[in-house]
Amino acid sequence: MLEMNSRSQLWICLLILFLSTVSTQIHARPKGGDGDFTKRDSPHFTVYQDVDLDHYSGKDGIRAFERSVLDHLEDAYKNTYKILSLRAGGKIPVEIYDPAVFDKQFNRGFNYTAVGFYHNRRIRVRGDKKVDIHMIQTLHHEYVHAVVDAVAPGVFPGWLNEGLAEWFERYAVGRKRMHGGEANYLRLAIMQKRWVPLSSLTTFSNLSNDNAGLAYLESYAMIDYLVRKKGERGLRDFIREVIRTKNVDKSLKRKYKLSIAELEQAVIAENSP
Ligand SMILES: [Zn+2]
Repeated sequence: MLEMNSRSQLWICLLILFLSTVSTQIHARPKGGDGDFTKRDSPHFTVYQDVDLDHYSGKDGIRAFERSVLDHLEDAYKNTYKILSLRAGGKIPVEIYDPAVFDKQFNRGFNYTAVGFYHNRRIRVRGDKKVDIHMIQTLHHEYVHAVVDAVAPGVFPGWLNEGLAEWFERYAVGRKRMHGGEANYLRLAIMQKRWVPLSSLTTFSNLSNDNAGLAYLESYAMIDYLVRKKGERGLRDFIREVIRTKNVDKSLKRKYKLSIAELEQAVIAENSP
């Protein structure tokens, strides 16, 4: 969750780009979209896209691209329903932008680069010519925010909202556990005393590029820890308790016998050198 700026007070959720491919992609594609969005529907989503594709038909054409985006979004719908028994009602609009257009329109005024965000029942994604693994993860990530906003608007603190989105985007590509590189990154942050306290992550506003990456990873580490403790069913029970009580600390104590502070300390302890 993030406020776009203090003036607009809009809350949105951003997925930062951990990889260093942003500038490469921008340089490789100076030509932007034409602002003429095409539209295609699936049962739970409407996709509008403005990516600069050369053909309408064929395997690299607009039609195949839109179908692929919708297939992955429907997968996101199935995953959150299967694991959390939750879904966003109605049809969610999803706008896929040409990357240069997205950067010009949305990647200003932020301290870090966004590849997608959710705001006001609408998902916006920095597109590409192909639906690659990064776009798939972005679609799954942002859909979780749409679900959270639909079922409990304003209830989830930033770390819980982002942690869930990060967990589901990894689940989408077959990853169910934190990998070694991520654990090493956390360990290094703890060693260097750069850990961002959960108490400061009720929103994700005002994060620098450096601690934004760490904040997202810490949030994911919380969910990863909970899933290792009581599985996906335990996570579902906890999330449903949060929705019911609107109280994260109480729900965590009831389902995991942990306060938020104790959860944070447990994750720090297991990742400490
Ligand atoms: Zn997010």
